[in-house]
Amino acid sequence: MNELKLLIGDAARGGETGTTFERTNPLSGKVVTTAAAATVADARAAADAAGQAFAAWSRTGPGERRGKLLKAAELMEARQADFIERMVDETGATPGWAGFNVMIAAGMLREAAALTTQIQGDVIPSNVPDNLAMGVRVPCGVVVGIAPWNAPIILGTRAVATPLACGNTVVLKASELCPATHHLIGEVLVEAGFGGGIVNVITNAPHEAPEVVEALIAHPAVQRINFTGSTPVGRIIAEKAASHLKPVLLELGGKAPFLVLDDADLDAAVDAAIFGAFFNQGQICMSTERLIVDHSVADAFAEKLAARARELKAGDPRADGNALGTLINAESGEKLNALLDDAVAKGARLASGGKAEGVIMQATVVDGVTSDMRLYREESFGPVVAMIRVDGEEEAIRVANDSDYGLSSAVFSRDTARAMRVAARIESGICHINAPTVHDEPQMPFGGVKSSGYGRFGGKAGIEEFTELRWMTIQLGPRHYPI
Ligand code: NAD
Repeated sequence: MNELKLLIGDAARGGETGTTFERTNPLSGKVVTTAAAATVADARAAADAAGQAFAAWSRTGPGERRGKLLKAAELMEARQADFIERMVDETGATPGWAGFNVMIAAGMLREAAALTTQIQGDVIPSNVPDNLAMGVRVPCGVVVGIAPWNAPIILGTRAVATPLACGNTVVLKASELCPATHHLIGEVLVEAGFGGGIVNVITNAPHEAPEVVEALIAHPAVQRINFTGSTPVGRIIAEKAASHLKPVLLELGGKAPFLVLDDADLDAAVDAAIFGAFFNQGQICMSTERLIVDHSVADAFAEKLAARARELKAGDPRADGNALGTLINAESGEKLNALLDDAVAKGARLASGGKAEGVIMQATVVDGVTSDMRLYREESFGPVVAMIRVDGEEEAIRVANDSDYGLSSAVFSRDTARAMRVAARIESGICHINAPTVHDEPQMPFGGVKSSGYGRFGGKAGIEEFTELRWMTIQLGPRHYPI
């Protein structure tokens, strides 16, 4: 069992009041983690520690930052087995998805290491004679990162890697559903040399999240917030940040459309749809949630897809042969069942799978989904994919854009110029042609539009998020003044 203290400054310590909270395994119901429950005072202490560490860390050069980030990547890989253990225990994910998390997260640390020499400014021509004017990128201060449970190693690492590369110090607020997995990211970073308040990790009881997050946002040392999570909570965070005039990067929910045009390679489309809809039980922000399929190919596509979906087995993530693990909790299963009941009552047809039993849900394809069904609009965040039949390209684009969300999307067509024209009209931050909606690489600009949030992680886009752009000048010769 994992027993966690708060990681604040140089010391691992219990929370101010000594209270703890528990995380149970979704399948067995057994307690797998007991974690210190941070109070508002603890949150302030973490931001204080990060604020104090900022003066020295922000003055380090790229070599030192890069060295520590590369070391952290190595240590993360060396502790892969521990990461997998904690993540499978806390979230019910398969060991394969957990291992993939470690691989991508280590890649994010290496990409952040490479960014340390890419934090560049400009020399800008000035109208004032002998005036050298520059736009200089400088660290912001303390960055608060808030990450969810569904890809916890990737998203927890993403929340802090580029901020650190840019010379900021950080407070990572762990998800209550995977506190030990997020805590391990902090342990690795501290071991790599980010101790002394450069990296802090706090865990909190679920009902105390609002006040803990508010205290972090309000803290004077905190200059940036990044939040990955649901759209309703993202809205709360954005409002709180706005009241303190602090910029926030929001990576929120999705309802990714996957367009199958009449000339698509159906086998390739089925492969990508199976992966995109069901990998990690569909609990990925980029998961394919809406298959928008041209009438002329819909029967053939549905038949191939359902046959492949039936081959996938959900169950104990550690058991051989289960491509799908469990849902994060039983409430998620209840929500998914309500979405299915509503769709079936309104005329949709189950082509594969069916209702969740507790935290186990088989890969479920729902054909004939229409706009009056909840499944058409609401993020399911589970192994359920809605198939919507459309008549031609224009209707496919209209349906794709008939959503509050706009994170990832995909278009399948053998005519790539046509697919490119269609992709250009889809309202989303990410679009893949003849490839799945689920795809992440550390150097890519990642983020959404509409209710999927704003701001971008990844590569140079991340530098803009986590630095201040300052105008600085040096007067090199005599200057004329009007008075
Ligand atoms: P969530 O929004 O329920 O929780 C995220 C965090 O918000 C938790 O740490 C929680 O403590 C905190 N929180 C909850 N209530 C709060 C409040 N009132 N005030 C302040 N903080 C509060 O999200 P989740 O269930 O952990 O994650 C699933 C969601 O995340 C899905 O919608 C998914 O699409 C989204 N997601 C987005 C991305 C992306 O990159 N766009 C990636 C992964 C997941």
